[in-house]
Amino acid sequence: MIEKIVKSLKKEREKPFCAYLYDLPALRQHVGHLIHTLPSECRLFYAIKANSDHTLLKTLAPLVHGFEVASLGEIEKVRAVDQNIPILFGGPGKTAEEMEGAINHGVSLFHVESVHELKLLNHIAGQKGTHTDILLRVNLRHSVPNAKLKMAGVPTQFGMDEADIPAAIELTVGLSNVRLRGFHFHAMSNNLESNAHAVFVDRCFETAKRWGDEWNLEISYLNVGGGFGINYLDIEDQFNWDDFTNRLEKILEKHRDVNWMILFESGRYITSSSGYYAVEVLDIKQNHGQTFCVVRGGSHHLRLPAAWKQSHPFTIIPIEKWVYPFERPTVNETPITVAGELCTPNDILARTIPVSSLRVGDILLFSYAGAYGWAISHHDFLSHPHPEQLYLDLDLIEKLESKCNKILSKTN
Ligand SMILES: *Cc1c(COP(=O)(O)O)cnc(C)c1O
Repeated sequence: MIEKIVKSLKKEREKPFCAYLYDLPALRQHVGHLIHTLPSECRLFYAIKANSDHTLLKTLAPLVHGFEVASLGEIEKVRAVDQNIPILFGGPGKTAEEMEGAINHGVSLFHVESVHELKLLNHIAGQKGTHTDILLRVNLRHSVPNAKLKMAGVPTQFGMDEADIPAAIELTVGLSNVRLRGFHFHAMSNNLESNAHAVFVDRCFETAKRWGDEWNLEISYLNVGGGFGINYLDIEDQFNWDDFTNRLEKILEKHRDVNWMILFESGRYITSSSGYYAVEVLDIKQNHGQTFCVVRGGSHHLRLPAAWKQSHPFTIIPIEKWVYPFERPTVNETPITVAGELCTPNDILARTIPVSSLRVGDILLFSYAGAYGWAISHHDFLSHPHPEQLYLDLDLIEKLESKCNKILSKTN
């Protein structure tokens, strides 16, 4: 479907094709499924740093239970689409100005990352004559799944060492402008193992219960973070969400003695699959025995594969049109390396991927580009034009589909 739409859009454009495309109906359906299958005591927040695009936030606001943010800028982006939706505010190094702004914008929960932050937030809330609800962010000592990125279980700038939490709890008792409502455990990104993820949630319960019992705390929330992964290397073998929710049901059953609300704040898993990055092949060449395909675009638009030194999944959309009076560069049955238009050897989107046929003028369609794609890229390095940002919604999809059906029936 996306391929047909790209073909049809390409017909309307003179310049080499370069666009991000977002499949909004697919996004709604996906998030609807996640919300629908989570146990009733769970809430799903979207961590907007994965992609804080205005249209995506607007699409997600009526579906998710709220947004997770890590700066005042992100709070303002959320409030630009919804004045009332719940916001969770985390992230290290919160400034006094951000805390004040967050209180003004009616943030629901602060995730406090250090003892200094705890004192500063209490001070700011006191000056404003109010109190704030907080979760203490824990950097667990052990039992963090073996995910791609680890924020806990290892030394990082995130949260408080598990061993220092008791002292922080005692400190909150004496502070009159913060109210401890529970604990926050976001610990990893891109975890692909549903079982390990469920075991992690269980471990969060056990740890929080220990503290709850010891200090007789009135805990309302257990935030177990995000980190559900996307398998970029084998797209047929994705995180098994249904297996995870089945295991989660059993873990929640085991902890029915406490009546806590479980918060998830997922980024990647929410928006990754509905975003595409489509780029036209500008050149094909051989160098030192390898075949390079140079595209209109690159890591300044999609930095993720370069950052993780891996190949990003793509398919080829064949484009028949060729306007020049000379031969069209073509390769057949060859492994290709896809390079961007930047003047750095690091600008690689995929390495030695076998293709059956590829020509200059064809379009490569990268999938799973909706999270940590455009949002984390260095857009203006080398000052090439930005990609188009195209939002496919039902009306546009229907229009384009009927158009490409007409085109297809004409050519048949
Ligand atoms: C980035 C982040 C998330 C989202 O992580 P994903 O791996 O995209 O699910 C959630 N919580 C915090 C605190 C984060 O920093």
